[in-house]
Amino acid sequence: MSKRIVIVGGGVIGLCTAYYAAELGHRVTVFDRASEEDRGCSYGNAGMITPSHFVPLAAPGAIRLALKWMWNPESPFYMKPRLDRRLIEWAWRFRQAATAAHVSESAPLLLQLNLAGRGCFEQLTREWGDVFGLTPKGIIMICNTEEGLEHEVATAATGRALGLPVEILDAKQLAAMEPGLSMRAAGGVYFPMDAYLTPDRFMSALIERLRERGVDLAWNTPVTGWNRGEGRIDGVMTSRGAVNADEFVICGGAWTAAIARQLKLRLPMQAGKGYSLTLPRPRKQPAHAMILSEARVAVTPMGSAVRFGGTMEITGEITGTDLSINPARVRGIVNAVSKYLPDFTADDFQEVQPWAGLRPCSPDGLPYIGRFQSFDNLSVAAGHAMMGLSLGPITGKLMSELLSGSAPSIPIERLSPDRYA
Ligand SMILES: Cc1cc2nc3c(=O)[nH]c(=O)nc-3n(C[C@H](O)[C@H](O)[C@H](O)COP(=O)(O)OP(=O)(O)OC[C@H]3O[C@@H](n4cnc5c(N)ncnc54)[C@H](O)[C@@H]3O)c2cc1C
Repeated sequence: MSKRIVIVGGGVIGLCTAYYAAELGHRVTVFDRASEEDRGCSYGNAGMITPSHFVPLAAPGAIRLALKWMWNPESPFYMKPRLDRRLIEWAWRFRQAATAAHVSESAPLLLQLNLAGRGCFEQLTREWGDVFGLTPKGIIMICNTEEGLEHEVATAATGRALGLPVEILDAKQLAAMEPGLSMRAAGGVYFPMDAYLTPDRFMSALIERLRERGVDLAWNTPVTGWNRGEGRIDGVMTSRGAVNADEFVICGGAWTAAIARQLKLRLPMQAGKGYSLTLPRPRKQPAHAMILSEARVAVTPMGSAVRFGGTMEITGEITGTDLSINPARVRGIVNAVSKYLPDFTADDFQEVQPWAGLRPCSPDGLPYIGRFQSFDNLSVAAGHAMMGLSLGPITGKLMSELLSGSAPSIPIERLSPDRYA
């Protein structure tokens, strides 16, 4: 049965949900507070599709590392210590989740979702043509310390045990994979099932397909409130007026906690600000996408350009848009790049305008995907942190199944939005 579906938020998660729902014959409207020209989190990211990222952010050792990094303004992580009730609750829940048991229970699901996500991108490339630059060539984690390499090798062993193909590379083998690039590295780990694409091109192609399918894309239209019925949502209030529908899905990225709170629903979420720098004509083009492991910097070839992305600044639960650029953290990315890849120097980045995006981070490092118990026709898909692009299409597919009344093709109980209710 065709339903009227309202989606709040037109980032990669909202638009992929709209796409797969429209494919199943539903009539979809997407509301976004931003304009179509706005280049939010889903556009300037590093474009990686990441089966390699099966360890959730909340993992043993994460707190120790965060405490070490917090005092260095150029490090990959920052959280301003402050008396903010929601930040304290989030940090406490993160600490609760950062256990070996949580990792071993979540890793198989994250891997399954990421592999299925890669499958969706391959399918979309077959259907749409090569319009977003999908490159299924794997990603290399490059380590410039023995300690860093040991850590990546241990992660690789876990991946192997889960059935993921992984190759450990010494410095010589690494150099052979990147013959055109100088590298300062102790070695690396190659994840051949990873892939990458150009996210801005993916988003444009998606918007074009949505228009062809008659999806109503309402930009510059924030959802400001809800009309509640008996255990249901009747409609949303927007600057266009009230809009009724059969189903409502919150895909508000880092804004999701604030949107859910309008309905007295608790979805702890912090914005994790990150930056990217794109060189349109790099002096060298890497043959692979790579992650500079200890520095947590992603390097992604995108056509003739190359994008460098990194840092995670926990900026709080957002209602507005804080995309201010912290120069020290941008410097941290640039310095890391020339430390691992000496072909690139700070001069290469002189003219580059840094881009900032707000990752939606849940405390346990898992997205919220599913229906709320308290409303029959309200669901959420948000909180994908560093994997929103990678998991965009599979999230959209699972949501479309759920909205059609079918059982999701991957069990998602662990991602329940009621887990902190
Ligand atoms: C530097 C960096 C690198 C990254 N690299 C990768 C990568 O390589 N691979 C990967 O998979 N992921 C990556 N990510 C993460 C990825 O970009 C995010 O997980 C993803 O974009 C989140 O998508 P989203 O749709 O949930 O949120 P968003 O894209 O933020 O979309 C949410 C939308 O909701 C709208 N909204 C908010 N409130 C309202 C309201 N009240 N009414 C209407 N609309 C509203 C907002 O305007 C926004 O457009 C990276 C992120 C950063 C910052």
